[in-house]
Amino acid sequence: MSMPSPKSLKQFYKERISQEKTVGIINLGCARNLVDSQVILGRLKGKGVKIVNADEADIAVVNTCGFIEEAKQESIDTILDLIKLKKEGKIKKIVVAGCLAQRYSKTLAEEFPEIDALGGIEHLEQEKIPAQVALTPTHMAYVKICESCYNRCNFCIIPQIKGKFISRTVASVLEEIRQCDARGVKEVNIVGQDITAYGMDLFHEKHLAKLLQEMVKITKNIQWIRLLYAYPAHITDKLIDVIAKEEKLCKYIDVPLQHISDPILKNMNRGITTQQTIELIQKIRQKVRNASIRTTFIVGLPGETDKHFDELCQFVQNMRFEKLGVFTYSPEEGTSAFDMPDQVPEEIKQERYHQLMQIQQSISQSIQERYIGQTLKVLIDEKDKNEENRYLGRTEFDAPDVDGTVFITTPKPLTIGDFATVTIKDTLEYDLIGTI
Ligand code: SF4
Repeated sequence: MSMPSPKSLKQFYKERISQEKTVGIINLGCARNLVDSQVILGRLKGKGVKIVNADEADIAVVNTCGFIEEAKQESIDTILDLIKLKKEGKIKKIVVAGCLAQRYSKTLAEEFPEIDALGGIEHLEQEKIPAQVALTPTHMAYVKICESCYNRCNFCIIPQIKGKFISRTVASVLEEIRQCDARGVKEVNIVGQDITAYGMDLFHEKHLAKLLQEMVKITKNIQWIRLLYAYPAHITDKLIDVIAKEEKLCKYIDVPLQHISDPILKNMNRGITTQQTIELIQKIRQKVRNASIRTTFIVGLPGETDKHFDELCQFVQNMRFEKLGVFTYSPEEGTSAFDMPDQVPEEIKQERYHQLMQIQQSISQSIQERYIGQTLKVLIDEKDKNEENRYLGRTEFDAPDVDGTVFITTPKPLTIGDFATVTIKDTLEYDLIGTI
């Protein structure tokens, strides 16, 4: 007897869900997906259901990631875990949403008939601010200002998953910032696939700098506004000047460069050259005092030779990035890089990954050491579960979840979500140790 095919998310949301039902969500992937998970929970909470942990919920939702192989595998494993819980009667319904479902809904429906509802990505509301259930600590929030991107990097499947680039209206973004400020949020992380393209659809110009200037004017409680996912070719002098000038804008710029060698940048359709990239980083360093630059690189892109990779290593040594992530190239069906010649063998990718991470490890250690003896403003994120009188926090140079932590030892209790002035005593590879 064949299992009925899963309902669409739309049908699922239209259904009357009886009050006693409980819902839980597992968010996979990036901060942008986390915002979508908050919107999904907001919609379900609107139906009066109670939010609990997914592994004990009547309705378990998994908001999947479908960006690269590793992320896809994690999403599949999570669906299999939920199917096991359903068979054990611990959960009643499985709902699969997000990028993997957007990309492979038919395959998922065939492979996993146990799924009750299946749907793709959340569509960004341009004007309305959807109800959300926060999945972040109350003192921090992610605000998504736009969706998808105009760029067509040859290794990336995201524009095909996310569709047409769309910016929220300035009024909608500012209203959400006001709401965050009113409920006592201290740190807002601005996200999108390419936040530096914000407004290109609405104003036919890059409008992020102007939006940020509006934001700082209306915030009282919010003290840190951090920019995540800036596209190098779209960073304007105006934006750099606003980051440098506005105290509330963290002196932190997340700009995934992906590579540095001209043939690879060209091959990957990144829209920027080696020289332009070097000038951009130098300009940020000149104009933004104490700038902390986060970036990511992909090693093993099709056509990458030892010479191209050596150039990348030299660049990382010269530029000394404060925060750096490395990925090995993951061939994605449907991207033009997938069919390119000169695919790099997996073992070479791994070698290059480890070599570049090693270079960064020593750079990061020496960069961390420059903070010893300094007094830094730290946002208290949580109390250390393992150590009495110890708290965990971050400086404005550390984004949530991806960057380092400040371990703070203090004789007096601290309040989560407050700022504290911490004297740095010691460092670990990526973390700092301080006292009050
Ligand atoms: S900027 Fe490039 S890598 Fe980033 S989402 Fe767009 S196409 Fe993908």
